[in-house]
Amino acid sequence: MTDTFIHEIPLKTTPHDLAVLDVRLEAARNLYNACLRESLLRFDLMRESKHYQMARHLPKGKVRNEAFKECRETHGFLEYTLHPFAAKTCKACWIGDHLDAFTIQTIASRAFDAVRQYAYGARGKPRFKRRGWLTSVEGKSNASGIRWRDGRVLWSGLTLMPIFDFKDKHGVEAHALTCRVKYLRLVKRTVIGEPRWFVQLVLEGTPHQKTKNDISDDTCGLDIGPSTIAAVGEDNAFLSQFCYEVMQPWKDIKREQRAQDRSRRATNPDNYNEDSTAKKGSRKWHRSSRYKKRQYRIAECQRRLTTTRKKQHGQMCNKVLGLGKNIKTEKLSYKSFQKNYGRSVTVRAPGMFVSMLTRKAANAGGSVEDINIKATKLSQTCICGIVEKKPLKQRHHACICGVQAQRDLFSAYLAKHCSNHILDIHQAKAAWSAAEPLLRRAMSRITETASCGPVPASFGIPRRQSCLPVKDGSTAIKVADAVALKSESRKEMIGLAVRTPWL
Ligand SMILES: [Zn+2]
Repeated sequence: MTDTFIHEIPLKTTPHDLAVLDVRLEAARNLYNACLRESLLRFDLMRESKHYQMARHLPKGKVRNEAFKECRETHGFLEYTLHPFAAKTCKACWIGDHLDAFTIQTIASRAFDAVRQYAYGARGKPRFKRRGWLTSVEGKSNASGIRWRDGRVLWSGLTLMPIFDFKDKHGVEAHALTCRVKYLRLVKRTVIGEPRWFVQLVLEGTPHQKTKNDISDDTCGLDIGPSTIAAVGEDNAFLSQFCYEVMQPWKDIKREQRAQDRSRRATNPDNYNEDSTAKKGSRKWHRSSRYKKRQYRIAECQRRLTTTRKKQHGQMCNKVLGLGKNIKTEKLSYKSFQKNYGRSVTVRAPGMFVSMLTRKAANAGGSVEDINIKATKLSQTCICGIVEKKPLKQRHHACICGVQAQRDLFSAYLAKHCSNHILDIHQAKAAWSAAEPLLRRAMSRITETASCGPVPASFGIPRRQSCLPVKDGSTAIKVADAVALKSESRKEMIGLAVRTPWL
């Protein structure tokens, strides 16, 4: 397979285009649900068969794999046996009038893939898509179906003009348009309550590298926490808060949701029991116009946060790659992160960040190496060889041998000197005298400037002019600008009602 990257361009749409696209998306959704049902059915039948049950009890190996393969073939639980089913379904009803052969195949493959992942235990049971849940359709090649011709999108009689970025300050779009188009994807998004369509060009090659984001060939150690990120390179280091601009207005969202609930109850009194629980079964729900407006506002707020988060992840990736493209980091369990720091992880999405970093590093010819956390115990080890457990609240590494550093930065430094899941302690010790000033400078930068946003307690920087006693003997930090930021986020939430240029 060749390298692939995506470039997204917004589309100009007339009311007629919107109507046609909506009908096609609805057809795609119906087809998806039909294919999903069929795949689930075939999967269930296969699992219940005697053949399958026998195969299950075989010892692991070639024979067992062959037996499973045979089961899949006899029950038609294969991607390519679902395609004829999808084509037949389309021919038999109205769906076929709105979709082309390639789109039909990709939709069938998508439904099958969801069931396949469920079958292998990688995902939960896939759900049927309700109206508005399916938001994208894609083609299979640029030869027919959804295709790109002379800078326009063509799809069975529709011609859609893209809105090109004529400024294109960094030449990103110019580069993308010179690459070979593999296939197209059309995505519908609701921006400030209005539907907008985008085309994603799936292109061959590597994305354009902006000159301002220089990538270093060095090795870089990385330590990712639920809310912080520390990176140590050859001649620089930094400690920063993850996505500090993404301030989820929890309180405001909660208030809006409570209002939604009150409104729902007032407009649908027949749908509730006497003890104010909702009646079971499907019923008709009336939604007031204010309810709809509020719903748009909540959705818009979430959309904005998502865009900001993505942007910040990208910036952070570039910052890390500037230190070194060969990245070493501890392998973290994002599931345990989600369990222990639910809210913080929802806002900052460290798992998503790591997958983005892996992709970007690979594009630049580097890599992200995962280090086994249990074998190395980076947060407990010192370069003198002493392994001592530190409680989470202790944010500083201070060893009896005289080594002192901020905890996260020190783990990142140690990660840099790991190879094949083993910490090279001699190398780490030899390089310490050169690295110590870097780490110290990284810390002083945080206290001097507010460039990385409010300073969280996990940095372990003592607060000045503080007389509050703190748990671990060092001092905790109350976010200095918390009030200012909070009022700002509130303003933003209110400002959403006002029309603003969409992102
Ligand atoms: Zn030590």
